[in-house]
Amino acid sequence: MNKKRDYYEILGVSRNATQEEIKKAYRKLARKYHPDLNPNNKEAEEKFKEISEAYQVLSDPEKRKLYDQYGHAAFAGAGAGTGSEGFGGINFEDLFGFGGRRSSSDFGSIFEDLEDIFGTFFGERTRKRSSRQTYQPERGEDIYQTLTISLEDAYHGKTVSLEVPRYVICEKCAGTGAKAGSEQRVCPECGGSGQVAYSSGFIHITQTCPECKGTGVIQEPCEACNGRGLVMTKETVKVKIPPGVDNGTRLRIPGKGHSGRFGGTSGDLYVVINIKEHPLYKRVGDNLYIKVNIKITEAIKGTEIEVPLINGKTEKVKIPAGIQSGQQVRIHGKGMPRLKSKGYGDLIVVVNVEIPSIKELSRKAKKLVDELDNELPPVTKRYEKP
Ligand SMILES: [Zn+2]
Ligand SMILES: [Zn+2]
Repeated sequence: MNKKRDYYEILGVSRNATQEEIKKAYRKLARKYHPDLNPNNKEAEEKFKEISEAYQVLSDPEKRKLYDQYGHAAFAGAGAGTGSEGFGGINFEDLFGFGGRRSSSDFGSIFEDLEDIFGTFFGERTRKRSSRQTYQPERGEDIYQTLTISLEDAYHGKTVSLEVPRYVICEKCAGTGAKAGSEQRVCPECGGSGQVAYSSGFIHITQTCPECKGTGVIQEPCEACNGRGLVMTKETVKVKIPPGVDNGTRLRIPGKGHSGRFGGTSGDLYVVINIKEHPLYKRVGDNLYIKVNIKITEAIKGTEIEVPLINGKTEKVKIPAGIQSGQQVRIHGKGMPRLKSKGYGDLIVVVNVEIPSIKELSRKAKKLVDELDNELPPVTKRYEKP
């Protein structure tokens, strides 16, 4: 016989979990493993039996006490969870059977729990089957709006007022789309179903009825909205841009999309961030890159330069002696703020050694270059793989 797993472990709760916590854990797992949602999945089926059995015991304070004291032995021989035959739909006897010791009240409460869990699920299915199209609440569409900001704004964050063109409920007809006092008739085009079908050869297309726009009824249209039930307005929406946004970051402002028809909820507004090219900084993730040009002598001796930062301040940076063109010096924490965590990226200084042409030099400098040429050691290695 298989070794039975600990009931607490099965539900993933601690031994001193409250009844509420046990219930919550059970519901979460039941939703995941319910056989209706996992057809032909033997593993899910076994899992569902296991969690149901654990819940049956732990949800009952008396049984739980016995279990805490004696473990699985408390229920040995009572038939708990031994029925492993397949489900014919949901067999409550199998799932929750505790032999003959189950009272009708036990059954009722478990049934209620299941209804609670799957109520919406089954409910929706039934509603769809029996409904007519007429005035079904429709969720409003989402709006996507691009917002272009500077890199500085992306660094500091900002609150902006956006003018958003959005459809809102027509006040004149309260969103019904009907002219005041006009009569509603069943749509002759679709017979009230809101859907029309077209056939052409093998192709069969069903689409929303253009005559009644899916409502199944026709009426004299409201003049203000042309029967749509919605009118276009411009609304000013305040949008808070958090520090650290990047190109393509989508900020969601719930409920600020187009209004829904027939009592449906509004869609959402998505503000898509676009960041202008910066004259100095290149951004890669949370890091910023800046190129710093130095003299050949600075490269030889090393130097200290003042690097402008994105926040408007500057930072002194040591350039080590003997730095090569293209080498990088990293300034920790002076890049962009991290959007999804704390802290900042780095500022990376890309050093470029500016080498003047002999033609640009003064007579004295030319002489010094000649002297230097004689004094400098030869290159360490003439040929290398790039
Ligand atoms: Zn109207
Ligand atoms: Zn129609």
